[in-house]
Amino acid sequence: MNRPGRWVDDARCAGRDPDQFYPFKRGPAGHDDETECAKAARVCFACPVRVDCLEHALATDERYGVWGGASVPQRQKMRKFIGPLDVREVAELYARHGNTHWMVR
Ligand code: SF4
Repeated sequence: MNRPGRWVDDARCAGRDPDQFYPFKRGPAGHDDETECAKAARVCFACPVRVDCLEHALATDERYGVWGGASVPQRQKMRKFIGPLDVREVAELYARHGNTHWMVR
């Protein structure tokens, strides 16, 4: 998987099928398969660099795939909090809670 930065050396996804982290479901209104996203997220939640990974995805506005355990819609939701919080803080909050339920605005 092409994951930038030194933290990739400790990525739990290293050596795994990259498609697992890009669970795009083809169809008229193509979207990521939520069940497959959840499977990928289970790998991420045990990854020692998931905050770095999610921080990178938020900072670079990654439009595809599961990063740091977060799906595309979850990252879109998180991006609304960047500004009041910095990118790292948002990534840490997601890593701590494992969901976006803490995002009440
Ligand atoms: S958080 Fe997930 S996608 Fe990111 S490096 Fe770890 S296992 Fe890979």
